[in-house]
Amino acid sequence: MSDISIRKIPYTKPSITALEVQYATDAAANGWGEHCYDYIVRFEEAFKAHLGVKYAIATSSCTGALHMGMHALGLGPGDEVIMADTNWIATAAPIVHLGATPVFVDILPDSWCLDPEQVEAAITPKTKAIVAVHLYGNLCDMDALLAIGERHGIPVIEDAAEAVGSVYHGKRAGSLGCFGAFSFHGTKTITTGEGGMFVTNDPNLYEQVLTLSNHGRAKGQIKQFWPDMVGFKYKMSNIQAAIGCAQLERVDELVSLKRNIFSVYEERLFDLPLNLNNQPKGCFNGYWMPTMVLHEEYSFCRDLLLDRLKSKGVDARVFFWPLSSINIKGRKASDEPFLSESIYTRALNLPSSYCMSTEDIELVCNSVREALFS
Ligand SMILES: *Cc1c(COP(=O)(O)O)cnc(C)c1O
Repeated sequence: MSDISIRKIPYTKPSITALEVQYATDAAANGWGEHCYDYIVRFEEAFKAHLGVKYAIATSSCTGALHMGMHALGLGPGDEVIMADTNWIATAAPIVHLGATPVFVDILPDSWCLDPEQVEAAITPKTKAIVAVHLYGNLCDMDALLAIGERHGIPVIEDAAEAVGSVYHGKRAGSLGCFGAFSFHGTKTITTGEGGMFVTNDPNLYEQVLTLSNHGRAKGQIKQFWPDMVGFKYKMSNIQAAIGCAQLERVDELVSLKRNIFSVYEERLFDLPLNLNNQPKGCFNGYWMPTMVLHEEYSFCRDLLLDRLKSKGVDARVFFWPLSSINIKGRKASDEPFLSESIYTRALNLPSSYCMSTEDIELVCNSVREALFS
């Protein structure tokens, strides 16, 4: 028996209302034949408007969006791509699949995102891209990263899978780099079950990814079943897009809910020796996943706390392992010890399901408090 039977507070759970059900039902009943792309087009248009970008292509996942975008940038064997060592595997996997090498740099202590100084130090003649991942809703230092990219002629990709709702100096996360990628997996801020989005302001990159996403068939190609190149098949279905349309209509409400959950954590944990997600001046954090990092001079048994939470029906998660520690074709940018190699022992993702009540959050906070002082 798994522990699912006693799990009362999932770490993330989407908010699905009658609107999502209505749109999905309509898509299932009517979204075929000449209407088979209606919700997809509508979702892409709405997402473009929400983000403030020129082009968007709905995909089956964020990983697929990254894969096609990186392919369109020409990444291949011998190339290097700089990214943070603290990351989910999904950002690195497409780099490896293209035959390029991910190069891992250390993270900053406040945002847990890649350190621009280390990015610049890691650049070699082989560097072909930098991937800025906005971790847990926290924003990368985009001004610094874009300036480095410009100085060296290297594109900056944004993995904004965790950053729906986050805004960097007036611009939404995912709209600042050469392209952005989003995830609508069931754990993310807005969901289509599985799903993603490729966004860009670059017309050439858009045309290339559009062709790639359609099995290599170029937009203007009139010959039926005629691929102009070997492409990919990472499309979103109309039914998924219907759910996405409803979620996007509610995006402000959903981001507010995430921010409310975070503010309760902030209020209840403020006196403990730990940091939560940061929100520097000029930034607005969508707080996808409230995360606590104990101050360096403290330590706790992370697994004990996880077990204790689980016994109370609370599902918390471990902070990302350093990618340099797993079996992946890639390398650390330097031999120095990284913060990414120790931070995860002091860190935990706290649950932020939309269904959580203030009492639920208090239960989590009390468990954290007990674990730290016992
Ligand atoms: C969730 C996530 C992804 C992968 O998204 P999928 O839609 O599951 O492919 C990529 N990058 C980051 C940072 C994520 O959190």
